[in-house]
Amino acid sequence: MSAPAIVILGAGALATARRIQALYADSQVHALRGRVEADVSYGELGAHLRELYARGTPIVALCAAGILIRCLAPSLSNKGVEPPVLAVAEDGSAVVPLLGGLAGVNLMAREIAALLAVPPAITTSGELRFGTCVLNPPEGYMLADIGQGKRFVSDLLAGESTRIEGEAPWLDDAQLPRSDSARLAIRVTPRAWDGRDDELVIHPRSVVAAVTAVEGEIVTRVREALDSHGLAPLSLAALLAPSERMADPALAEAAADLKVPLRFALAGPQVGVPPGNLLHAALRIPYETLHNDASAGVALALASLAIDPDTIGRARGRLTVIGLGPGSADLMVPAARTALDGATDILGYDTYVKMAGPLRADQRVHGTDNREEMQRARHAFELASEGRSVAMVSSGDPGVFAMAAAVLEALESSDNADWAAVELTILPGVSAAMATAAQAGAPLGHDFCMLSLSDNLKPWAIIEKRLRHAAEADLVMAFYNPISRARPWQLDKALNIVREYRAAQTQVVLGRDIGRPGGTLRTFTLGELRSSDVDMRTMVIVGSSMTRRFGDAAGGGEWVYTPRWYE
Ligand code: SAH
Repeated sequence: MSAPAIVILGAGALATARRIQALYADSQVHALRGRVEADVSYGELGAHLRELYARGTPIVALCAAGILIRCLAPSLSNKGVEPPVLAVAEDGSAVVPLLGGLAGVNLMAREIAALLAVPPAITTSGELRFGTCVLNPPEGYMLADIGQGKRFVSDLLAGESTRIEGEAPWLDDAQLPRSDSARLAIRVTPRAWDGRDDELVIHPRSVVAAVTAVEGEIVTRVREALDSHGLAPLSLAALLAPSERMADPALAEAAADLKVPLRFALAGPQVGVPPGNLLHAALRIPYETLHNDASAGVALALASLAIDPDTIGRARGRLTVIGLGPGSADLMVPAARTALDGATDILGYDTYVKMAGPLRADQRVHGTDNREEMQRARHAFELASEGRSVAMVSSGDPGVFAMAAAVLEALESSDNADWAAVELTILPGVSAAMATAAQAGAPLGHDFCMLSLSDNLKPWAIIEKRLRHAAEADLVMAFYNPISRARPWQLDKALNIVREYRAAQTQVVLGRDIGRPGGTLRTFTLGELRSSDVDMRTMVIVGSSMTRRFGDAAGGGEWVYTPRWYE
């Protein structure tokens, strides 16, 4: 389980929050911005709680249970993830587990209540009686059938005893009514449940399926192999394949279908190797080879306990190049959020890595002030080709004056096969020009171009030439990197070139820190604009001859737009 977010609204809760924090390594206290300072600050309670919940982060909120329920209500219909959610009284006098019964909420309630020396408000009947949730086996174990599980627990609650068949170390301390001659049994086994209703079947994920030369239906062949040994599909811990086939989409699809991680190992160079060789190469624990069918290309390994898939061979490395959008979390595309959440390593310029947070303590951050983009791109491939899941962050869109192009250049100029096998994805983001334009209205409503005024990576002469052509063509222009301390004169020069072709009345929009705290939007005419109005955190949009402004700036109802037509 990941570390909980301990959420507070005011200074009154900080002391209790810090005590709870000490219970959970890597947990952080999240505090309402402007009210109290802690480890992570948030702006709006509801949105923040829903974001944490959607990410599966356990939540300990020091506020009224009602507030918490109301904030999370919109997220509850989706039964997908349900992390533990607890309300704790600010003064530590009450601990109320609310959600996440199958994710260990009652265990957390007990831990926190013990710390605060109060009784936890536990309401789960099975839990009250047995001191554990029988239906919540630890990671690596799967309940065969939740409906059957519930009937089984009702029988126990009605006074029956149970036997335990198989290895269930987590039940050792449970106050279960046990008897070796009981009618009911908790059975921990990789074998498929036969439908008997006097058994609670829990499958350890203890089977690995290795596939080699499988053409066609990988999933069918694996299922058949499992079936021929009476093994439950839920017992499968991972799908294992030869490293040479890392980039094969059929394997990724098969693993997704089987709902298990896909891992890789070197089977040896020869063609038609028995799939059992893969098991030998990848498994570091004792196991029994149940199946080793070279013609079907499937082998099965059975271990005596659940296997952690992270210890089997290695994963296909992943590099996802994402854009954070201009700044605020709600302008980041959901796919980028998902990539960040799934990343083991996060790379990028320090400021952006901070914007990408809150990150989990188990995520490695390679923040850097290093402006050498190619070096950073190579570093990303090095990490990913070790099997890690890397997110490379840029602001705005990663393909607009940002990291995506450097990543591709690094890949093209490398002959490293491991780099080529990395699963590379580039996700779009909301670029500063789009974010600024939307706030101003629609200045990019007709043909436009994006130009970086930085002459760090291109000669100034080419910038001048492009400016002239764009200005002459009456394109709306969005200037990125307009000015900096190291480049103080270029903007004035650029504006003078534009003024040769555009009237002084031409509309100009300046967006500074758009989507970030303290962001401002201002409108000017080209005649009024001074380079001192602009800094490196500013987006400059220079309108075309058609760009118009109407409304009243003071009343907030001012809009700038470029019509869809041209004459
Ligand atoms: N990939 C980024 C651009 C990086 S270049 C994107 O797509 O937005 C950096 C320049 O982008 C800055 O000099 C500034 O001109 C502009 N910029 C980036 N974020 C901005 C923001 N939040 N508000 C205004 N301009 C921004």
